[in-house]
Amino acid sequence: MTVYGLIRFDIEDFVTQESNDALEFILDIMDEFQVPASYGIVGKKAHYLDQGHRQRVLARLATKNALGFHSTTHSEHPTLSEELAEMEYQAGVQRFIERETVGVDTVTKLIKAPLYFTQPGGNWVPHTANALVQLHMPVFFSDSWNSYLITSSQPLWIEDVVHWSPPVLNPKPFAMKLPDNLDEAVEMVEKAPSQMSPRDAFMVMVHPTELVTTKFWDAVNFKFGATTATLRKAPLRSQQDRMEAFESFRAYIRHISRASDIEWTDIIQLSARLKPLQPPHLGEPDELLRALSDHGLGPIVMHGESFSAAEVVLALALYWTQATPGQELPPVKAPLQWGSDRLPLVHSFPILTIDTVKSGAKEIISQARQSRSLSRAVGTEPVSIENWAHSAFFHLMHHGQKNRAPQSFSLPLTFLKYVKEPTQLHWDWPIFPPEFQPFRLWRDTQRLAWSLKVAQYR
Ligand SMILES: [Zn+2]
Repeated sequence: MTVYGLIRFDIEDFVTQESNDALEFILDIMDEFQVPASYGIVGKKAHYLDQGHRQRVLARLATKNALGFHSTTHSEHPTLSEELAEMEYQAGVQRFIERETVGVDTVTKLIKAPLYFTQPGGNWVPHTANALVQLHMPVFFSDSWNSYLITSSQPLWIEDVVHWSPPVLNPKPFAMKLPDNLDEAVEMVEKAPSQMSPRDAFMVMVHPTELVTTKFWDAVNFKFGATTATLRKAPLRSQQDRMEAFESFRAYIRHISRASDIEWTDIIQLSARLKPLQPPHLGEPDELLRALSDHGLGPIVMHGESFSAAEVVLALALYWTQATPGQELPPVKAPLQWGSDRLPLVHSFPILTIDTVKSGAKEIISQARQSRSLSRAVGTEPVSIENWAHSAFFHLMHHGQKNRAPQSFSLPLTFLKYVKEPTQLHWDWPIFPPEFQPFRLWRDTQRLAWSLKVAQYR
């Protein structure tokens, strides 16, 4: 039962010179044991290495298959979430692209073009779903600690981006506490195959700087929304402690590289094994109705093809216009706006008339063809898209059985279950200002969850 193991190095400390040595040491170890890993670097860190005459390290990073981007400035205020917290979504996407292009350009110039993105600390932002493709990084390598999406050993598509939030199987903190937690860390990895299904993925998260410091470099300078007058390096471990941490990390990689039933890979290789994102084909109505009865309105797989909730609604609309099974759906993503107070997220709705369902179906199809997005509402007296879907489903289910309406009937918005509740989010990241609660980011994530679909291996 082979599972996929991913090691992610977040390379970010641009104030502590000794962290450059730690990175070089890690590169040596990974070469020694020939273990693939993913290396995500902060723009300012690439610059810091260059200024510190570490061109050899930069050149070694350029040989890595999975070079990623870990934001332009990481914990500098305003961080990504702090800056985008109150912005209108599309403006936020543009702002994300502007500020992150700076770092992408630095990394590209000093190393090579990065291929994936990882959020800095708790700064998971929904804008990535639309911004990363424009930055030529269509892979979001998140994790169970920081993602707004639920932890999953399988990737999901969100809009056009493949999103990973696998379980992190290492102690927290990890490398900073080596060698004390070495046995625990090895055991967590070795147990993974017995606790997972074949082809499930898990990850290990390491900050190279932890091998040489006793406090996080950013907590020293950027804690609770404030910035120190001059940036200070993180407090260092003693020379002896550093040696022990290095040796302990070496032992860790040696052990886990030999663990049975784990295939170590990197995020780019693993993402390349996925079927490309494409619109599914319209199947038989009965199959869709069964899937909706069983799973509600959420990402589903039918006849081997993956559907988002938005695509399911479009499929319903197509049935109401006599479309024939077998045709490819027009591309459709999340609604551009959704979930205001005017259209509350309730799960039970009045049943619309068949005429209203029919005219709504035409509107939904024409909106998808024009804007590639799902309508938020239909009709002149607007009814929400979820209300329309509920009625469209209801009438198809009871086709020809007008007098046998069921006692209770509902179409739960299952796609919302893929988004964590605010209490589960990493808004208590120590760099954020106290009481930082960016609800708007969370609501936009719920809206984008209309586009979530299961990513399938080839
Ligand atoms: Zn980081």
